[in-house]
Amino acid sequence: MNIILFGPPGAGKGTQAKYIVKKTNGIQISTGDMLREEIQNNSEIGKKIINDMNEGKFVSDEIVNELVKKVIFDPKKKERLIFDGYPRSISQAKNLNILLDQSNQKIDFIFFLNVNKEIIVKRIEKRKILEERSDDDSNTILKRYDTYMELTKPVLEFYSKNSNFYEIDGTLEIDEITAKIDSFLNV
Ligand code: AMP
Repeated sequence: MNIILFGPPGAGKGTQAKYIVKKTNGIQISTGDMLREEIQNNSEIGKKIINDMNEGKFVSDEIVNELVKKVIFDPKKKERLIFDGYPRSISQAKNLNILLDQSNQKIDFIFFLNVNKEIIVKRIEKRKILEERSDDDSNTILKRYDTYMELTKPVLEFYSKNSNFYEIDGTLEIDEITAKIDSFLNV
């Protein structure tokens, strides 16, 4: 089963992705985690992206699409893709469609966790203390939110007409969101 978790930064995509991974024996595909790993490893990609990431800007489609391509064509990951933080722009969504077609796969569920700006800012400030993420300071949070509104939100229109698109109130408690996801998965 392949699933997309969609929503603004701080919506809880990562938390719910971990639940879905357990439930479906899936693999979490977090482009944010993959990019942070490149930085930690001080790789060539890591050196190219560190500034953009710290400033809350998008990493180029070229780099992100290439990382995702490897995952999609990995036979061990086929039909187990739980996307968290990808696609984040219309061009990434189009690219994903092409890669899925080429690898004979489709998306089974798209879950949109809808959260307002005030809650996001509070949640991310809390996460900064817990996880020490360098892109979680107040200015960067606002920048990431603006980028979401400008580039990622249009992707909603791309997906929202699909019959497998489900909007969930992301301001609910974690367990309540999980229960809703569960109910859709179990249908
Ligand atoms: P996340 O962990 O999903 O919040 O992502 C953290 C940061 O990684 C973002 O603010 C971007 O700088 C970068 N990033 C993650 N996923 C993508 C993506 N799909 N496209 C472009 N940049 C991304």
